[in-house]
Amino acid sequence: MQTHVKALVVGGGAVGASVAYHLAKAGWQTTLLERDELTSGSTWHAAGLLPLFNMSYATSHIHDYSVKFYKTLEEETGLNAGFAVVGNLRMAQTDARMDEYMLYASTAETVGIPYEWMTPAQIKDRWPLVRTEDLKGAIFHPTDGYINPADMTQAMAKGARQRGVEIVRKVQVDGYRWTGSEWVVTCTKMVERGGNLVASDEQFEITAEHVVTCTGNHAQRTAKMLGIKMPAIPVEHQFIVTEPDAALVDYRKSNPEHPVLRDADAKWYVREERGGWILGPYERNAPACFEHGVPDTFRADLFPLDLERIEEEYMSMIHRIPSSETVGLKDDYNGPICYTPDGNPLVGPAPGLRNMWLAEGFSFGITAAGGTGHYLAQMMVQGEAEIDMASLDPKRFGSWVTTEYGARKNEEAYEHVYILHHPDEERQACRPLRTAPCYDRVKARGAQFGCVNGWERPNYYAPEGFDDHAARSFRRGGWWQYAVEEAKAIREGVGMIDATAFTKHLVRGPGATQFLDWFTCNKLPKVGRINLTYALTANGTTRTEYTIVRLAEDEYYLISAGAWTAYDSDYLLKAAQDKMAEFGWIDIHDITTQWGVFAVAGPKSRDLLGKLVKDADPATVLSNKRFPWLSMRNIELGMCPVRAVRVAYTGELGWELHHPIEMQNYLFDQLMAAGEDVGLKLVGARAQNWLRQEKSYRAFGNELGRDATPMEADLPRFIDMSKDFHGKAAMEATGVRSKCCTLLIDGPTDADPWGREALYDGDTKVGRLTSGGYSVAFGKSIGMGYVRPDLAVEGTRLKVRMFNELWDATVTCDSPYDPTNAAIRKDG
Ligand SMILES: Cc1cc2nc3c(=O)[nH]c(=O)nc-3n(C[C@H](O)[C@H](O)[C@H](O)COP(=O)(O)OP(=O)(O)OC[C@H]3O[C@@H](n4cnc5c(N)ncnc54)[C@H](O)[C@@H]3O)c2cc1C
Repeated sequence: MQTHVKALVVGGGAVGASVAYHLAKAGWQTTLLERDELTSGSTWHAAGLLPLFNMSYATSHIHDYSVKFYKTLEEETGLNAGFAVVGNLRMAQTDARMDEYMLYASTAETVGIPYEWMTPAQIKDRWPLVRTEDLKGAIFHPTDGYINPADMTQAMAKGARQRGVEIVRKVQVDGYRWTGSEWVVTCTKMVERGGNLVASDEQFEITAEHVVTCTGNHAQRTAKMLGIKMPAIPVEHQFIVTEPDAALVDYRKSNPEHPVLRDADAKWYVREERGGWILGPYERNAPACFEHGVPDTFRADLFPLDLERIEEEYMSMIHRIPSSETVGLKDDYNGPICYTPDGNPLVGPAPGLRNMWLAEGFSFGITAAGGTGHYLAQMMVQGEAEIDMASLDPKRFGSWVTTEYGARKNEEAYEHVYILHHPDEERQACRPLRTAPCYDRVKARGAQFGCVNGWERPNYYAPEGFDDHAARSFRRGGWWQYAVEEAKAIREGVGMIDATAFTKHLVRGPGATQFLDWFTCNKLPKVGRINLTYALTANGTTRTEYTIVRLAEDEYYLISAGAWTAYDSDYLLKAAQDKMAEFGWIDIHDITTQWGVFAVAGPKSRDLLGKLVKDADPATVLSNKRFPWLSMRNIELGMCPVRAVRVAYTGELGWELHHPIEMQNYLFDQLMAAGEDVGLKLVGARAQNWLRQEKSYRAFGNELGRDATPMEADLPRFIDMSKDFHGKAAMEATGVRSKCCTLLIDGPTDADPWGREALYDGDTKVGRLTSGGYSVAFGKSIGMGYVRPDLAVEGTRLKVRMFNELWDATVTCDSPYDPTNAAIRKDG
């Protein structure tokens, strides 16, 4: 057995087998260790469905790769993975569900996943056993279906072995030690004793340059060994198998197999199994399990069936397929299925560790295994994947997550698999948890909160008694009118946004200036000034967007997106550690939770602050002369010391008021009292999101990410090509494959785009939206997105697909609202 390897994969389920296969394919010498037998984790008892349907762009790519890859396995390995390409029919009982499918179809289209629409009559005609009179329609995927998970994993393992991977079973990884250049991994030989799998006395070490953990339900044990937090905790999931259904057996004599049937409103999937049916429900109250680790006694085992829990779904299957009513139960499976709080797996570099990669927390691991192996191997071998993997990055959850949080959120994620995926959905479990001090105050004033990285952040403000849940929609929700009023308040008067969740880092020390100059692509600001800048990946794409404030010659205050604190911290810290020997000492602190932020914006914002500011000459302290745009001043508002930053993400005259968090309520009260005279309105994140699009301000996670360079984001004014910076050569070599632009859209009267829609030039797909919303300045829908570079020119007329129709869209100039920035620069 190899004791020194380039890559060590831990875990021999579907995911580990695929990762090993793809690393070997990319040329890396790889060993895979499995504590028991291959597939003995969750993989063996999976139902094997391969749903292409996914609302996320990255995950859709992953699923799409898997489905295509699995079709090639037999030719490569000679092993038949049992892929039944029967298609997948998602039925809708409501108009809202059809809206959901139409939004999903937009994502599918941008990825290139085929789909068809079906009416109830067409469904009945093709599959007469299905009751259709209460259906609105369905979306059908002809290219997916189901597979045999164990055979598929064995086929990938064979393919991996053929490419030189050593697969060793009955070896458990029991410890990891980083030497500074490689991992020393402690391994224990496992032995069978009385039907149990137990550790023997035989231990040995393997040295690995890179480690990938794919440990499924054992993720909590892995996290403890690595000293990290990982909210990957399983939930019980069951499916039942019926005896043969005579009507089905009869139907199949002259017909092909049914597609996988999904009645999302009834929360189940059904597929054929030897003349009978498999019913897989996503019911309420499925409990989390193994919160503190998998007991030694649990091997390839199952939990007892809990039929009562799935009674509702069982009855609804009988309603949908009446012939199943008299058919008995043959078999049942209740097994652990790993989840994460948002339902996406954790794929990417582990927080704080070098060369340690996670591929954990898979709830659709059979579907995702192929694509995960492919894109993770790209990240490891080439530095980045061709798609932006940020939405799967383990660091999207901070170190604030706990076992209790993971367990309860994962139960919620499980229950929500088939609950309508409204784009304006906010899930309620484990909230409120992270709150700014002003939480109670804004709540009392009608704040309807969203949750960002655990923080409660107002989305919009509504009158007492308003039901945010009922207001959700795939079109303009009940909240839309409030966001319109808030956006208008900022354009015409003054509004205040709680932006406390912003990520904030302090970077200082003798090496700070040289480091940041290398780390980010724009010129560093002078003391007291501000610059917008980007940290790039080694591949030249955007890793983080920073507003950098220079506090002193060697001291910088970095502001970045609130959702990405751990993700930004990790990259910044690792880069600084790497460069300290070259540039000198660099001191970095994540000070996110020490500073509160209120963003005040609108033509009357100077009047508002003028009422509170203490200065020898209050009349001029906020003037352009003393406080120009893109500068920072330490001011005093009443008794609160404020680091005021003259920027506004809304594109109006405005200031971000960074303040000591313990004085937040004092400052809030002062601002609200002073605001009475000037009509101050509290504003939420939704209005802000619309307003920033009118200014073509790119958002991280939408226009900005690891699949596009800042040049492609069309931000040359923030790139200093005269200096050398990290990722510069790769950015230049990449060129401009597609380009970011802003579009005004003549869409439906009751809906705006969400930023997932496909863009067309005539009949040709030419790009996709990455943001969408409503523009109060133009009185129509607005969006930002990426198109072929030759089309990203003002005046180009394109089409946006929304609700299955094509709507006119026109590419605008950059910053269609106030292109000269006159409003922002207004003096006073
Ligand atoms: C009833 C049920 C039905 C399902 N149906 C579907 C479906 O239809 N489609 C779908 O996509 N998904 C389905 N799933 C989910 C799917 O089973 C999982 O997402 C998938 O199997 C996860 O694969 P994995 O490789 O991540 O984990 P696992 O298969 O659990 O593999 C992890 C492996 O790591 C090993 N391991 C752990 N720790 C160590 C260590 N320290 N050293 C060495 N080895 C270690 C374990 O022994 C295990 O073999 C279903 C799940 C359940 C419970």
